[in-house]
Amino acid sequence: MNEELHNIVSHDEVDTKHSGAVNIPIYQNSLFAFENYESFELAMKDVLAATVYSRGNNPTVQYLESKIAELEAAEQARCFASGMAAIAGSLHALLRSGDHVICVNQAYGPTRQFLDELSDRYRVEVTYVDGCLLSDFEEALRPNTRLIYLESPTSGLFQLQDLEGVAALAKREGILTMIDSSWATPCFQRPLTWGIDLVLHSMTKYFSGHSDCLGGVVAGRADLIGEIANKGYMLFGGVMTPHTASLMIRGLRTLPVRMERHQKSGLIIAEHMEKHPVVNQVNHPGLPSHPQHALARKQLDGYGSLFSFETQLPVESLKKWADALRYFRIGVSWGGFESLVTVGQTPAKRNLAGNNPSVARLYIGLEDPNTLIEDIEQAWRQVIKA
Ligand SMILES: *Cc1c(COP(=O)(O)O)cnc(C)c1O
Repeated sequence: MNEELHNIVSHDEVDTKHSGAVNIPIYQNSLFAFENYESFELAMKDVLAATVYSRGNNPTVQYLESKIAELEAAEQARCFASGMAAIAGSLHALLRSGDHVICVNQAYGPTRQFLDELSDRYRVEVTYVDGCLLSDFEEALRPNTRLIYLESPTSGLFQLQDLEGVAALAKREGILTMIDSSWATPCFQRPLTWGIDLVLHSMTKYFSGHSDCLGGVVAGRADLIGEIANKGYMLFGGVMTPHTASLMIRGLRTLPVRMERHQKSGLIIAEHMEKHPVVNQVNHPGLPSHPQHALARKQLDGYGSLFSFETQLPVESLKKWADALRYFRIGVSWGGFESLVTVGQTPAKRNLAGNNPSVARLYIGLEDPNTLIEDIEQAWRQVIKA
C-alpha cells in the first residue's frame, strides 16, 4: 500500500471555521440561508458548486467526497445513499437509448438487473462478456458502444480484468470505462491511474467497515462527475445524509490500517483452505494458484479479504458446515469487523462430471485468524462425522 494513503485519511489543516474541531461537524440541515438576495441568486446559478440545499451539497458529505477523490487520484467524487444508488445514478446519467454497453458477466447481480432494465425499457443494448481476456471486449465492440463496465475482481469467483489494457482499448475507440472497485478499495487498487474513467464503490462494505450504514461513491474527471451530479444524483435524489457521511468519515480514518489486517488474515485463511482435502480450488487473486495471479500482482497493491472456494460436496453439506461455524456468521454483504459465510452453487462453471461445483464465500473480519481456522476445522469435523 502507498504509505501516503495513511496521511490522506489522518491529516487535515486546522479548521479555524469550527474552533479547531479535528472532525468536521455534522451539518444536520436540509437548506442553507443567505445574507441577501444577491448572494442567493449567485448561488442559485451554480447549485452544484454552492451550498444551497443538501440534495446537492452538504459540507459534511463534501469533506468525505474530497477525501475519496484524493485517495482515488480523481478530480471529484460524489457520495450516494448506497452503492446501487451510485451505480444506477451513474449509468442512467451516462447512457441514452440506442447506446451499447459491454459489461462483465460476473458483475454484481443488481447491477446486471439495472442494465437489463435499461435494455428492456429504454433500448440500451447490453453485451455480457467473461472479461478475463482483452479480446472478450474487442470482439464485443459495436459502432454504438458507449461504455465498458468492469468489476475487478468480481465478488463471487474473483476474476480480474486487465485495467490498463481495457482503458487503452476504450480510449482508442472513444468509449467510457467504469469500474466497481469495492473489493480492493483505493488502498489496494487505483483504477484511474491505469486510465479507467470512473471508479465506483459500495461504501457499505470496507469504507464503513462497521456494518452500520449504507453508502456509495463515484469518482473521476470533473466533467463526468458533473454530468452524473446534474442528472443521476440530483434527479433521483439518492444522496448520502450528513449523519451517514460522519459515520463514513469515522470508517475512513482507519481504512488503510484495517485493510492491512484484512489482507493478512484473508491470505492466511485462503492458504489454509487450499490445503484442505475437500477443497478443489480457492478463488483468491493473491494465491499463486489463481489463474490471473500475475495480473493481480501488476494492478493490485494488496488484497481484500473476501474470497470463495469450490468443492464437490453437495450444497446441503456446505450449509451444515456453515451452521456448525461459530465465528463466521451467515449473512450477505461484507467489509465489516465480523467474519461471514454464504454458500451456493456456481452456475458459471462445470466440473469434469458435468455438475456445477458447490461454492462457499468467506469474508474474513478482524478476529484472530487462528481462531477462525480452528472454527473452520471444528465445523468440518462435525460435517464429515455426520
Ligand atoms: C454490495 C455491493 C454493491 C451494492 O452496494 P449497496 O451499498 O448494497 O447498494 C455493489 N457492488 C458490489 C461488488 C457489492 O458487493
